[in-house]
Amino acid sequence: MTDPRRATPRVDAVLADPRLVAAVERLGSALVRSAVTRALDEVRSGRLPAHAAADVAVAALPGSAATLRRVLNATGVIVHTNLGRSALSPAAVAAVTDAAGYTDVEFDLASGVRARRGAEVLGALRAAVPGAEAVHVVNNNAAALALTVFALAAGREVVVSRGELIEIGDGFRIPELLTGAGAVLREVGTTNRTRLADYTAAIGPDTALVMRLHPSNYRVTGFTSAPTLAELATLDVPVVYDIGSGLLAPEPLLPDEPDAASALAGGAALVTASADKLLGGPQAGLIFGRADLVTRLARHPLARALRVDKLTLAALEATVRGPVPPTTAALRAPVTVLRERAQRLATTLADAGVDVAVVDTGSTVGGGGAPGVVLPSVALSLPTAYAAVLRAGEPPVVGRVSAGRCLLDLRTIAPHDDADLLDATLSAAKQT
Ligand SMILES: *Cc1c(COP(=O)(O)O)cnc(C)c1O
Repeated sequence: MTDPRRATPRVDAVLADPRLVAAVERLGSALVRSAVTRALDEVRSGRLPAHAAADVAVAALPGSAATLRRVLNATGVIVHTNLGRSALSPAAVAAVTDAAGYTDVEFDLASGVRARRGAEVLGALRAAVPGAEAVHVVNNNAAALALTVFALAAGREVVVSRGELIEIGDGFRIPELLTGAGAVLREVGTTNRTRLADYTAAIGPDTALVMRLHPSNYRVTGFTSAPTLAELATLDVPVVYDIGSGLLAPEPLLPDEPDAASALAGGAALVTASADKLLGGPQAGLIFGRADLVTRLARHPLARALRVDKLTLAALEATVRGPVPPTTAALRAPVTVLRERAQRLATTLADAGVDVAVVDTGSTVGGGGAPGVVLPSVALSLPTAYAAVLRAGEPPVVGRVSAGRCLLDLRTIAPHDDADLLDATLSAAKQT
């Protein structure tokens, strides 16, 4: 018998396999070489015959050169931060693809000279929020708040209610962001009650701004009060309202969730928001409001450090101008439609012998806003063992375990993904 170490082919010999030559085009040589090297290690140790090395390397190739994978969100949490917040609409995905190469992001094709970066996107946002004299876009809402402080309040006081000193998640605390950007925080009122007089008393020559922060992930109920935005707008300093979720106009399903148009109409000088929460777009921070203030932000030297790339601009414009994004569709999906889809899926699964039931459940908006709001929904209920197997599948499906069952909530699954959800569940059934 031959020594497997001596019979091991050379890496280059295996790489000559046409499938691997094609894979190098698609994935680059480092990833393909590493798959080949691992297969040859198996050959060398005698666990794999030499002629199978190329087949094993091909089977081990990753699907793409990046490790981020498409996941089906069956958690029922619409804006799920750990799963990338919002899924882009097909129109936004197409816009990203078009902008991925060279693109006229900062160039006027008619005259052949430099143009204002992202002017069309800003125009689309202004059209969507007619009360905004000007708009600026940065990397995320945290950047919008930081830039606001850099440009308007560095070394000066920002007045904030103690009821609005919020932590968003993963240790991110807005008060620390404001002081980190150079503001002196002037806290007023108490956790549950703050009056207009508290603000009036705090405002002095050093005050740059009053900031109102939307508590997007919790609610204070009971003996509470706060001045209205219109009352704050009577103060002598500009009011910056961080609405968080990024709704541009009121959403009837979320009556307590602030939106940019109403915030400006209510007297805010500036409104800041995330683009990847309830707006359903890419990660970005949106700043709407008074032209003089927005211009100071946009012209500040640090604006350059916080600016967005062409892919974000493309996705954002298509989100604002284009069809309803998946986040909005999930929010508005009628429960009757979710139930019909669930019943169709359950019938096929039951026919295949799966222990499945259709159950009523509740979805939430998630970190994106609307704390405490539960949207009626429908889920497929499976044995808990499915949870881990589904996460390990292709595509991975993330559900939630509740009362000893694995629930797959259909509100956060786009209808065109039902077939993939069904296939993933049928393959999981074979492994449980
Ligand atoms: C989410 C949120 C932020 C942070 O926004 P990012 O876009 O994640 O930076 C800030 N303020 C409020 C009120 C939020 O809800």
